[in-house]
Amino acid sequence: MPETAVQLASPAPITHFTDDENLFRDNIRQFAEDKVRPLVKEMDEEGVFDKDLIHQFFELGLMGIEIPEQYGGGEGKFFEAILAVEELSRVDASAGVVVDVQNTLVNNALLRWATEEQKRRYLPRMASQTCGAYALSEAGSGSDAFALQTKAELKGSDYVLNGRKLWITNGKEAGIFILFATIDPGASYKGITAFIIEKDFPGFSVGKKEDKLGIRASSTCELMLEDCRVPKSNVLGEAGKGYRIAIETLNEGRIGIGAQMAGVARGAWEYAARYAQERKQFGKSLAEFQGIQFQVAQMATEIEAARLMVYNAARMKDAGVPFVKEAAMTKLFCSQVAERVTSLAIEIYGGYGFTKDYPVEKYWRDSKIGKIYEGTSNMQLATIAKLVMPGK
Ligand SMILES: Cc1cc2nc3c(=O)[nH]c(=O)nc-3n(C[C@H](O)[C@H](O)[C@H](O)COP(=O)(O)OP(=O)(O)OC[C@H]3O[C@@H](n4cnc5c(N)ncnc54)[C@H](O)[C@@H]3O)c2cc1C
Repeated sequence: MPETAVQLASPAPITHFTDDENLFRDNIRQFAEDKVRPLVKEMDEEGVFDKDLIHQFFELGLMGIEIPEQYGGGEGKFFEAILAVEELSRVDASAGVVVDVQNTLVNNALLRWATEEQKRRYLPRMASQTCGAYALSEAGSGSDAFALQTKAELKGSDYVLNGRKLWITNGKEAGIFILFATIDPGASYKGITAFIIEKDFPGFSVGKKEDKLGIRASSTCELMLEDCRVPKSNVLGEAGKGYRIAIETLNEGRIGIGAQMAGVARGAWEYAARYAQERKQFGKSLAEFQGIQFQVAQMATEIEAARLMVYNAARMKDAGVPFVKEAAMTKLFCSQVAERVTSLAIEIYGGYGFTKDYPVEKYWRDSKIGKIYEGTSNMQLATIAKLVMPGK
């Protein structure tokens, strides 16, 4: 994909970046190479995200990309958040998802639904020091998210929350949680309410951290709410309208997961393409065999298509045009591409690719989550089908 800045008449190709976007992307790429790459193997093995790296994300402005300057953020576009997720994920998908959840889900929800008072209270923290998490899923409600059981009862000026959340990304590092509970279990989705919860609220605790196949450095935790008191003033948006917040934030989040998967695919492809030049069999480099050339070319083509979908969906979001179908298609397709490309990368490495001494097996493990979180592939297909077959 051409990455040079050229002056073109409108409309510009999707791959045309402004000078600012080029600079932003180059800075993150450099940061990812210099600061993230050296830590990747250890973080994956230990299953722990480097604390100082999160600190550096804040210093670089990566945790508050779209937050307006008046609250201490970068006042950038959604497209920049997407570039950050792609570039970080090219080196480490766990780094990508830390930044992704913060920007595309948590900050996004606060920017769109918080009151002015809530914005003043929370956005400066999100931009400078506090990691966020987004807590919708429970043990019994994943795809059927609005079947959630965590209850919120109004008692005086507080809501009292009881229940458990499962699979919460950034659970270990987060200080602020956007958490969904129901104020009326009999009302189905109409009871769902979003709350802003601080880690030290009484009755809130973070439980077990999952031991996972991929994105191992990213923490995935259970959350416990035992008579957790949340001030009424911490309801995000309107009580009973949380389902809208969940649906709409996840629509944007899916473009972020597309970007993460495009980054994962590209990272693995770069290793495979380089290895094909270095490895010799039958007296030639692998890259001299047409069979290998075709595989590398096919991978590059699929990555190009994935990135075009990510960039287009993100530009649509920034342009304020409907993008729900494109976001679902992007997540669906990019996660398929990531799984195919990373799998082929292992094959190009042969037996070496199957070992942990080489980097490609991790990319494959990291690719698998793309088809699961923020709506499984079947859920994306259901959304797409509804939008392309409206009469069904
Ligand atoms: C590493 C990780 C991080 C996560 N991070 C978060 C987070 O930060 N916040 C959060 O809230 N959640 C998070 N999740 C939860 C994630 O969003 C859910 O796992 C996901 O939505 C799937 O739900 P489930 O696991 O309950 O699977 P299920 O819903 O039980 O689905 C199982 C299978 O059945 C299929 N299926 C279900 N219903 C249908 C249907 N109607 N038609 C066809 N097929 C169907 C699914 O596609 C899937 O293949 C995370 C999960 C993981 C693994």
